[in-house]
Amino acid sequence: TVDWIKEMTDLVGEEKLLLGDERLEKLSKDYYWYSPVLEPLLRDKRADGIVVPESEEQVAQVLAFAYRHQVPVTTRGAGTGNYGQAVPLEGGIVLDLSKLDQVLEVTEGHVRVQAGVRLGALEKMLREQGQELRIYPSTFMKATVGGFVCGGSGGIGSITWGNLWDGNVLEIVVLTLEETPRRLVVSGSDLLAYIHNYGTNGIVTELTVPVTTKTEWRQTVAQFDDFESAHRFAHAVALDDSIRKRLVSPIEWPIPSFFKPILKHLEPGNSVCLLETEEGTGEALAAHAAEAGGRIGYVISPDQYRRTIGLSDFTWNHTTLWALKTDPSLTYLQSGFHPVDFPGQIAKIKARFGDEVLMHLEFIRSGGTVVPAGLPVVRYQSHERLYEIIDFFLSIGVSINDPHTWKLEMGGRGQLEAMLAAKRSNDPRSLLNPGKLQAPAPEVARGDK
Ligand code: FAD
Repeated sequence: TVDWIKEMTDLVGEEKLLLGDERLEKLSKDYYWYSPVLEPLLRDKRADGIVVPESEEQVAQVLAFAYRHQVPVTTRGAGTGNYGQAVPLEGGIVLDLSKLDQVLEVTEGHVRVQAGVRLGALEKMLREQGQELRIYPSTFMKATVGGFVCGGSGGIGSITWGNLWDGNVLEIVVLTLEETPRRLVVSGSDLLAYIHNYGTNGIVTELTVPVTTKTEWRQTVAQFDDFESAHRFAHAVALDDSIRKRLVSPIEWPIPSFFKPILKHLEPGNSVCLLETEEGTGEALAAHAAEAGGRIGYVISPDQYRRTIGLSDFTWNHTTLWALKTDPSLTYLQSGFHPVDFPGQIAKIKARFGDEVLMHLEFIRSGGTVVPAGLPVVRYQSHERLYEIIDFFLSIGVSINDPHTWKLEMGGRGQLEAMLAAKRSNDPRSLLNPGKLQAPAPEVARGDK
């Protein structure tokens, strides 16, 4: 046993400190196993204790305790991140914020919540009141607002509203890890130190995010003989401002063959584009599909929205999940294509790698520009080969956010300088999620190497 456990038990009470092997094992893990590179490296990492606070005051107490006893603290929302963000590399405390789940304020256009509120529950509540989230990850049923902001990037809605860096976080409350933790209220460009920072420089307890007016959504599968037609269609729909939308996801065959629950609705051999667009946009979509040589297939009408398995469950990183479920030798990359020249980049990748790299794009609006983000499914052969593929992407101008490292300075996409500055000031003993944010070291710029 670890020497601080007894004192922590006295501080928070037995019921808020989980110590059983099963709990320690489960709550020390996220979806790092998506990566064959990370899986063997993180498999055995475990916290010494899981603390489940129920108020911001308790979080502050735990942080002051951690400072005094020099115990590492790794924060956890729902643990659905893919890069071991929430895995404690040096043991210590996992701070599970799932009980900080109060919706504090809802007004027209924004909502203020505690960090552990689940995005799915929030979306449901908002829609009942005539509003909805602007952006959320495909894991929204489980994922927390704090976990999305500190570990995610974008998702459903990003084709209209951009990602987390596009004004989709208004204000946060951050507690520091010091002798007496400070409570910082952060907004504007100062947020850059905290978005996608893996909780390395503070614990977010409250967040204010903008919300929008509720839309009646329909989900549509458009089908194409080849992937080139699918992404041409997707691009046209993405650029068509007369179509209100949340999701434009072109996916190359055979990836759709992995989508078991909806397979009976899909044409074998067809590449698809999965869409979520406003009610009444069916004709416009059909016209775009015909133009690209395709046709509209399966439709989930607005009255069936979220009453059945939805198409968003097959997009973003869920696409990879279905692939992995079918064939564990598959993994993925995260990439950014050129807003105009992406068809040429895709053609080069296909010419070079064939079916070793299967294409999956998510169209988003990033900084106002419509761009295809790529989450290609990759057949994993070796670490070396994976980085050969990455090098090829980079050599043709496709950017990579490496999902096979937990280090922010390599795979991250946030503002590193701002994060490091906040780390120095908020976490003087370097106890927050150790090993995730360090000074850049070029010789280890490759995955785990
Ligand atoms: P966690 O995994 O618990 O935490 C994420 C990171 O933030 C960790 O480093 C953790 O330490 C830190 N953290 C959590 N809460 C706080 C806090 N309050 N204060 C400080 N630090 C904190 N991501 C996307 O962006 N878009 C997607 O569409 C998407 N799709 C996915 C699909 C699948 C199938 C899977 C497995 C993952 C997907 N992800 C996606 C990744 C992940 O699900 C999301 O980013 C999700 O929002 C993370 O939320 P969480 O509550 O599970 O966070």
